[in-house]
Amino acid sequence: MNLLKDVILQLFFVLIPFVFFNIYYRDKMRNYSRAFILVTSSISLFLGMTFAASVKEGVIFDVRYVIMFFGLVHGGIRTGLILLGEFAVYRLYLGGEGTLVALINSICSFSVSLLMYKTYKLTHRKSLFVLMTGFIFSINALALTYAYFPLYFVKNLTYHLVVITTQNSLGIWILMSLFSKAISDKELFIRHAQNEKIETMSHVAASLAHEVRNPLTAVKGFLRLMQENPTDLAKSQQYMNICMDEIQRTEMILSEYLAISKPLTIRHESVDVVELLKVMREVMSPFAILHNVELEVRTPELSVNIMANPDEIKQVLVNFIKNAIEACANVRKGRVHLALSVEEGKAVLVIKDNGVGMDEGQIKRLGSIYFSTKSSGTGLGLTYSYHVIHTLGGTVSVNSKPNVGTKFSITFPYLEQ
Ligand code: ADP
Ligand code: MG
Repeated sequence: MNLLKDVILQLFFVLIPFVFFNIYYRDKMRNYSRAFILVTSSISLFLGMTFAASVKEGVIFDVRYVIMFFGLVHGGIRTGLILLGEFAVYRLYLGGEGTLVALINSICSFSVSLLMYKTYKLTHRKSLFVLMTGFIFSINALALTYAYFPLYFVKNLTYHLVVITTQNSLGIWILMSLFSKAISDKELFIRHAQNEKIETMSHVAASLAHEVRNPLTAVKGFLRLMQENPTDLAKSQQYMNICMDEIQRTEMILSEYLAISKPLTIRHESVDVVELLKVMREVMSPFAILHNVELEVRTPELSVNIMANPDEIKQVLVNFIKNAIEACANVRKGRVHLALSVEEGKAVLVIKDNGVGMDEGQIKRLGSIYFSTKSSGTGLGLTYSYHVIHTLGGTVSVNSKPNVGTKFSITFPYLEQ
């Protein structure tokens, strides 16, 4: 029974990086970092060694090789070496008869890992490959233990065969396959979130087509009037001015739309939120009109600058405004109201609607991946937006009541002029 307990405990410790990854990176728009691998592997290594399997004082068996291999694959050589160092120091501290053989063993297994970890990344048969690696670790540990303590080894043969092979083979297979699955899911999510932009912008585009048709119809009407009375120069001049205005406005909306829907660039600069909100009003008005919703934007007279990536901020604003308009789609006299103000070093943007609202449960889930109450929703718009705002050092708070409406308050650190 003790044998089984020891093995299960070690397999539990081996899961630590995977479990922490799922908790810590759940709603994040990025994959793991080297520091994360080092910290979680170290915890796993430390716990594994502290509560190692053992029948003889000073001779212990745990998942150290599994952890070091994992560290090498996901954290690179430096992480692997640090883990090896941590292991050596802690093993010396724990001491006992097995110390020397443990250190020799770890050098051998670490060398094997160094030879194997690059191939692991390239191979398509990863499961088979890690099982094989685990097997080599086991053979190595069994052979060296036998060489140093033959009598003790033979006396506890079953224990060693079961504990060493299961811990290494099953341990490495569980950790490597679960973690790979988790990170490929995360990659898929990040790609999905980027595609969501295309989906959002295609909804907005549909309403834009309407908005472009109206000025075109107007221009056509005026041109016809000019065609019918070519001699009335004063009237023609007036019509031409109106046509020019209409065309300019349409051109502006279209080029703003194109600017927003193009792929994100990486840049950080001073962005005037007042200017951005004016643009947003133009670009999102057609979408509001299509849903029979009144869109109102109130901004201060002076500019309000924040440090940000303008592409990202525009996308965030589109996400919030689009959600607010969609929430009002089936409401009589739907209204979406945006107001910007400056308070104590912060730019505060309030987005208020009188739409369907949300209950407590829904509010709690806001910003989580894939949370959506819409039949064709993706549930990625707010995940992305929250990520952008938090990265800038901003905050988001929500007030909402079912059938009354929703108020989002977003703050950004304000850039002094
Ligand atoms: P999607 O719009 O694709 O559903 P989002 O991440 O943009 O995904 O929004 C997630 C969910 O949050 C929405 O499905 C909706 O239930 C809720 N939500 C967001 N904004 C509002 C709002 N202004 N009013 C009511 N519900 C909202
Ligand atoms: Mg949305």
